[in-house]
Amino acid sequence: MRSAVNIMVLALCLCGMAAPGAGAQGGIVIKVIYNNIVHDDNLKGRWGFACLVEGAEKTILFDTGGVGDLLLDNMKKMGIDPSAIDMVVLSHEHNDHTGGLEAFLKKNDKAIVFAPASFSEKFQSFAKDEKIKKVDVKGPMSICGNVYTTGEMGDKIIEQSLIITTDRGPVLITGCAHPGIVRIIEETLDLAAKQPLLVMGGFHLPDLKDDEVRKIAGSMRELGVVYCGPSHCTGDSAIGIFREAFGKYFVETGAGAVIEIDRLEWTPSVPDNR
Ligand SMILES: [Zn+2]
Ligand SMILES: [Zn+2]
Repeated sequence: MRSAVNIMVLALCLCGMAAPGAGAQGGIVIKVIYNNIVHDDNLKGRWGFACLVEGAEKTILFDTGGVGDLLLDNMKKMGIDPSAIDMVVLSHEHNDHTGGLEAFLKKNDKAIVFAPASFSEKFQSFAKDEKIKKVDVKGPMSICGNVYTTGEMGDKIIEQSLIITTDRGPVLITGCAHPGIVRIIEETLDLAAKQPLLVMGGFHLPDLKDDEVRKIAGSMRELGVVYCGPSHCTGDSAIGIFREAFGKYFVETGAGAVIEIDRLEWTPSVPDNR
């Protein structure tokens, strides 16, 4: 459990960073490297998730997919140099998000790895053996300028999500969203006090009925989510429902997708006519 004081301090910090003139002045680019949903046919798809965040103070790999060779191969095809990555953030301890870490570390042993503190003994001893520079994440915290983690969330499967503040609102990236996508967005709102510009990643809704997914899409819009980019474990039919609900604000985020935040056209000054 995190303390209310910590949340307040971080919320103030995030608000400060998001203020005009103080936040990331655009330039954030998210490259989806690993996904079972394929956007660019030059890349191979496989169950799992990994993406790269460029344009923040540091270059960050969020999750590593399940198979190291495929992660590195897709990186190569996207012109990404693994040795140029400063930090790795692992969302949760499922192999389709952490399986590529070992192969990545063989190319880059300097990157700092932000992992939930509750990761297993097996992971902790692997980290010790490999001499990983590791940060144990508990509550919400800053990763680097304009980039934050929600901290550990969830009761059964503990997971952290990534928040990048921009002057048009935060961008939220989830691995599998096991704690619940709406709950994670609410946490982001608590921390950033601004409507999310983009929510993307795995939303983990494959077993829900269409009506239930529509409800979730509706809740997301009510919470002010502007752009939506579900992939990975969201479920094909659920993705179809989000595509319909968000219309031109739906963002393709399969393997090979490159999302330039500056190029998302919505601005807070234009009335939302969805
Ligand atoms: Zn998972
Ligand atoms: Zn997953």
